[in-house]
Amino acid sequence: MLSAFAVSAFAGNEANPDAIELAPLPAPAEFRIDMDRPVAFDASTTVALECPDDKGTEWLAVHFREWYGAQSPKVVASNLSTFQPLKLSGSPEAYAIAADASGVRIAARSLAGVRWAAYTLRQLAIAKRGTFKTEGRILPAVEISDVPLLGFRAVHLCWFPELRPQQMERAIRLAALLKFNYAIIEPWGVYESEKHPWWHWPNPTMTKAEVRRLSALGRDLGITLIPQINAFGHASSSRSCTMKHMVLDIAPEYEPLFEPGGWNWCLTNPETQRVLRELIAEMHEDFGNPPFFHLGCDEAQPPTCPECRKRPYGELVCEHIAGLADFVKSRGARAMIWHDMLLDRSDKRWKGFVKCGSKATATLADTLSKDVIICDWQYSYGDMKEVCMDWPTMGYFKEKGFAVAGCPWMNYNAMKPMADYIAKIGGFGFIETTWHHLRGGDWVKMYKYASAAAWGTPVPPGTPQYDTPFGNVMRLVGYDMKTTDYLDTGHLNYQVPPGWWVDNN
Ligand SMILES: [Zn+2]
Repeated sequence: MLSAFAVSAFAGNEANPDAIELAPLPAPAEFRIDMDRPVAFDASTTVALECPDDKGTEWLAVHFREWYGAQSPKVVASNLSTFQPLKLSGSPEAYAIAADASGVRIAARSLAGVRWAAYTLRQLAIAKRGTFKTEGRILPAVEISDVPLLGFRAVHLCWFPELRPQQMERAIRLAALLKFNYAIIEPWGVYESEKHPWWHWPNPTMTKAEVRRLSALGRDLGITLIPQINAFGHASSSRSCTMKHMVLDIAPEYEPLFEPGGWNWCLTNPETQRVLRELIAEMHEDFGNPPFFHLGCDEAQPPTCPECRKRPYGELVCEHIAGLADFVKSRGARAMIWHDMLLDRSDKRWKGFVKCGSKATATLADTLSKDVIICDWQYSYGDMKEVCMDWPTMGYFKEKGFAVAGCPWMNYNAMKPMADYIAKIGGFGFIETTWHHLRGGDWVKMYKYASAAAWGTPVPPGTPQYDTPFGNVMRLVGYDMKTTDYLDTGHLNYQVPPGWWVDNN
C-alpha cells in the first residue's frame, strides 16, 4: 500500500500549508500529509502499535476510549519488523505513523513515543463530514517519522494566589499535548505545607491533594512535574514590584529566618537549612519524588545581617546551595538552580546577557557540585524579539562541566537559535519560563514558539483569521477536563473585562 503514498500525492498540502493543524510540527524531513485523501479513524479502524513496552498498547486503548468513546479505533499490538514505511529514529522518544486506506500504524521505542504519536493523531483527526453530530473521525493520509531535538523540554509555571487551580491544570495539559515532557511548578505562597503552615498565604490553592492529583495526571500524560522552592533570594514568594511578603507581612515572628527586609533567606541561621530541607522533603514527596528539584536562587541581594556579613558571601551561598543540593541528591533527585548569581555582573564577557552576581557569588561556578543543573535564563533585554545566535553564558557553564538548560521568556525569535545552540553544545535542555504572562496572546506565543524550538521544528504557519492549530489543541484540553465554565475556555477568562459596560458607557 505504501506505493500509493508517492510524494506527489501530498500536493494538496503544499497548495494549502495553512491546513497543517498540528503543533509542534514533526521533523520536516519525514512528514507528508494529505487531507484530500481522508482515512477513517473510528470504530471500524484498527491501529497497529509496534512498541517494545507492553504498556503502550494499554495506554493507547485507554486514552482512545477516553477521547472517542464508542467511536474509538481498536488498538492491537504488532511486530516491529512488519513496520516498513518509515524509518524510526533511535531516540527513546521517537515515533512513526503511517495512515492510509489499509489502516493506521504506529511505531515507537517507548511509552513516551506512543504518547507523542497519539497526540499527533489526536490533533490531526477531525469529525467525519456530512452529519449533524459526530459519527466517527477521519485523518488525513499521513506518513510521519518524528523525533525531538532536545530530551528535556520544560515549561516553568508560576502558581500565583490569583491563579485558579483549573488554570494550572490547563497549562499542564496543554504543555503535554504540545510535547513538553517536564513542567516546573513554582508556588508563590500557595503551597499548603503541613509541616510549616506559616509558609503560605491564607487559604492556599495548591493543596496537597491537588499537587498529588496533578502530579499523577502529569505522569499519565507524559509530563513530569518538578517542584520549586526559592531557597536563596525571592524568599518573599511575591513579585518584588508589589512589596508583598508571604511570611513577614502576616507572621512577623519568623523574621530571624530572613535577611533584614526579607528578600533573602538568612543563610547563617541553622533553622533556615532545617526549614528548607523539611519543605523540600514534603514537597518532593507530594510531587511523587520526581528526578529533579528546582531551588530557584536567582536575583538575590548582598547580606545585611551581622552573622551573614562575617564570612565571604560566595562561600556562604555555596555552602548553602551545596548543602541543599546534597539533600536533594540524598532523595534520589538532581537540583536545578537559575544561573544569574553565578555570573559577576561587572564581567564584560556577559555584556548584553542576564547576570546578577558579584565577584563573590560568581565563585560558585568553580565550587558548586557539577551535579547541579544550571538554568540559564536569557530574555534578550532591550528587545524581547531579538534574534541571538550565540549564547556565551550557556557555553561558559557547559565548559565548566555543568548540565545547562536555555531558558527564554517572550523573546520568541531567540527561542529556536537558543534551542539549536543547546543541542549543538550537548546541553541539558530547554525551559520556557512564563511568569505572570500565562494568559492571552502571550501564552499562545510562548507555548507555540517554545514547543517548536525545543522539538527542533519551525513554528506552525499562522492561519489568517483564527489560530486554528492552537485553538484546536486548547479545545482538546477543555474536553479532557470536561470544561463547561466560560472562564476555562479560550486563552483569556473574559472577552470583555467585567464591569466594562458599566464603566465605559
Ligand atoms: Zn543572615
